[in-house]
Amino acid sequence: MAEKPDQWTSAIDTTRPSIARSYDVVLRGKDNFEVDRAFVGEIVKVVPEIFDVAAYNRQILGRGVRFLVEQGITQFIDLGSGLPTVENTHQVAQRANPESRVVYVDNDPMVLAHGRALLAENDRTSVVTSDLRDPAAILADPAVKKQIDLGRPVGVMLVGILHHLHDDEDPRGIVEAYMAAVPSGSYLFITHFCASSQDSRDAEKKFLALLGTGRFRTVEEITGFFDGFELVEPGVVPLPLWRPEGSVPSELSVGQRLMYGGIARKP
Ligand code: SAM
Repeated sequence: MAEKPDQWTSAIDTTRPSIARSYDVVLRGKDNFEVDRAFVGEIVKVVPEIFDVAAYNRQILGRGVRFLVEQGITQFIDLGSGLPTVENTHQVAQRANPESRVVYVDNDPMVLAHGRALLAENDRTSVVTSDLRDPAAILADPAVKKQIDLGRPVGVMLVGILHHLHDDEDPRGIVEAYMAAVPSGSYLFITHFCASSQDSRDAEKKFLALLGTGRFRTVEEITGFFDGFELVEPGVVPLPLWRPEGSVPSELSVGQRLMYGGIARKP
């Protein structure tokens, strides 16, 4: 990355909501501004459960990372990693296997400003401030090269991020580029906003109007990201249904169906 950290820090724009800071609002964090809270206030009018949705997403992130460590994965590229919160990827992964290596990639300057101390807790964790839409640049980044051995299986994480890419930004091509760079036995882990109800379609309109991104794809479109890979059970499902560790209600609410996710293995 060409930019210096202080350049990114001074790039923090408090006049418009940012994806990372708005997500921090729904995770009940403190790294956000009034403009982000106002945006979330508008989403709450359409999906009152949006705070729960963020929690479901963090919960599947933890379950998914633990699952990947159980499959022998010890290196992770966490693309669109977000601001540091509780149970970050490296904490989950390194608790399960202290040898785990994690590179966080995010383009929000706040993530670097707040992330360095919390996320880079040890020499097996790095933070890269860069745009994930340029896989070649990410994969050539010195921090990625330092942490990740592309000769061994990698956990490629696109958790809660692909819906922030418009169709004309070719999210499928971006996923394919990352997965082409990692060997057989690697895994792809995706969670994604889903067009699963009228409320979700109303939420999409608000996201696009106020944040500029937020493409709620159909289950078929989300499943399409995994084409060519072996989906592990139970496939692409509403987040609370992916390998739940507790009981699950028989009928899911709008919020419980707002995001879908899955994990697949590269054959
Ligand atoms: N992955 C985390 C999770 O699921 O808990 C955080 C998800 S958060 C909703 C999405 C993150 O992606 C934000 O921190 C945002 O800054 C980042 N992001 C959005 N577009 C990006 C891009 N083009 N390149 C890198 N990061 C991006």
